[in-house]
Amino acid sequence: MGIEKLNPKDYNKLFLNGQYVAAKSKETYSLKNPKDNTAVIDDVPIAGPEDVDAAVKYAEEAFHGPWSKFTAIQRTECFLKLAALLDEELTPILTLDSQTSGIPISLAPVRERGYIRNCVLYYAGWTDKQKGDYFPDDDGYVKLVRHEPLGVCCAINPFNAPLATLFLKSAPALATGNVMIVKPSEKTPLGTLAAAQLFLKAGFPPGVLQVITGAGSTGALLAEHMKIRKVSFTGSVTTGRRVQIAAAKSNLKRVTLELGGKSPAVVFDDANLENAVTWTVNSILIRSGQLCVAPSRVYVQKGIAEKFIDAYKKKMSAAADNLGDPQDPNVTMGPMVDAAQLERVKGMVERGKSEAELVVGGNQRGDTGCFMEPTVFLNPKSDAEIYRNEIFGPVSVIKTFETEEEVLKLANDTEFGLMAGVFTKDINRALRMSSGMEAGVVGVNCVSLQNMQAPFGGKKQSGIGREMGEYALRLFTEPKTVLINMAA
Ligand code: NAD
Repeated sequence: MGIEKLNPKDYNKLFLNGQYVAAKSKETYSLKNPKDNTAVIDDVPIAGPEDVDAAVKYAEEAFHGPWSKFTAIQRTECFLKLAALLDEELTPILTLDSQTSGIPISLAPVRERGYIRNCVLYYAGWTDKQKGDYFPDDDGYVKLVRHEPLGVCCAINPFNAPLATLFLKSAPALATGNVMIVKPSEKTPLGTLAAAQLFLKAGFPPGVLQVITGAGSTGALLAEHMKIRKVSFTGSVTTGRRVQIAAAKSNLKRVTLELGGKSPAVVFDDANLENAVTWTVNSILIRSGQLCVAPSRVYVQKGIAEKFIDAYKKKMSAAADNLGDPQDPNVTMGPMVDAAQLERVKGMVERGKSEAELVVGGNQRGDTGCFMEPTVFLNPKSDAEIYRNEIFGPVSVIKTFETEEEVLKLANDTEFGLMAGVFTKDINRALRMSSGMEAGVVGVNCVSLQNMQAPFGGKKQSGIGREMGEYALRLFTEPKTVLINMAA
């Protein structure tokens, strides 16, 4: 593999035990480029039980075999090599992935690279810091506590962040000595498959990181597998619930769920207007709104409402001009991931027209490909579908409010709890709001932001467990207590 363009047709295999191999299952499906619905690949395998069992067997062999003999520093060396390889190879991999994800390659050099590089380097530094604990023998027993890896883990990933989730899940898993089987979304498998060989080149032994492709049926085989000890899932609430049930019904494997959102951004009268407009607009448009932390509900205080809404509408309308070919390095906004997602968003927007006032967009852009215009609704009914449910498109809903107490209730009146933002110059109010808002992450004068050092995840039905930072490591290890009888 080199910097040259990667060919999608080379990635119609599974990556098992350090090799690209044909799947035993003969079931396949095809994928199109959402910019124009042209064929990209027509034989992506849907891994079946035999393929999943093979991946688990290789994973167990690696876990108990070569990988268990690596020192912490050797694991760090693999991560550092991986980061160096990514410097060379990430752009072509993201370009390959873009052909079915529609994620603009213009995001590759800074946003995607920064995120993935930070992730790999951050966890490179954690391999030798899993210190345990010691308690003295005041009662005749010395107590030692070790943090042990769980064993064979799997990642089931969503379509909207294929590469980011690959690294976000496998880096903490591998840093703590686990092995990982990754199933990318059926809509976006190519970049994950291409990236898998870099782990091998970086020195991770065969079987430590494997990739199998397939639909929900393949994900279900992983979630219910009796030898997999942990599933780290990112996707919708509905599927997350199924994964948790499958885990409970099989072997009680550990479960981390990173699920959907309907994130509120609250703009107070005293906010820096330009800053608030920039963050709220840019964040609903990244990946054309297919972002779990997108601020899809915007609350604006009455005193600033007219000015804010005017500026917000202008910026959203103007952004329609940014839509274009995601494989063009100058384009910043791409299509929906596929025709099904476009139809879903269009359907919600259509129904929304009778539940709120449509003030920007509302239509598919052009008739080639899966492009959706940036869309804004005002003053939704309190039970409107577009106000309550995750749309996962470039669509936001604005509502005005008068008091802090009122907006806190509105912001929290949802089963989602992933991200929230508060825009104000009043530090006391910012602190009150960030403590009152029921979200796993709250941005002050910013929104839809994550940081590798700090935990990320959802409250309420937006998830269980946390990724990023030291917290992710805890969820890939379990403490073991060793009691030593000093009298023997
Ligand atoms: P999805 O739930 O449709 O699919 C996610 C994955 O689950 C896919 O790999 C799919 O093949 C697999 N799957 C489907 N049925 C399964 C089953 N029965 N058992 C096991 N696996 C199964 O989600 P999606 O449409 O790919 O992604 C969009 C969703 O992901 C949105 O709700 C978004 O908010 C959420 N998301 C959350 C985060 C986060 O960090 N909280 C990040 C990105 C995306």
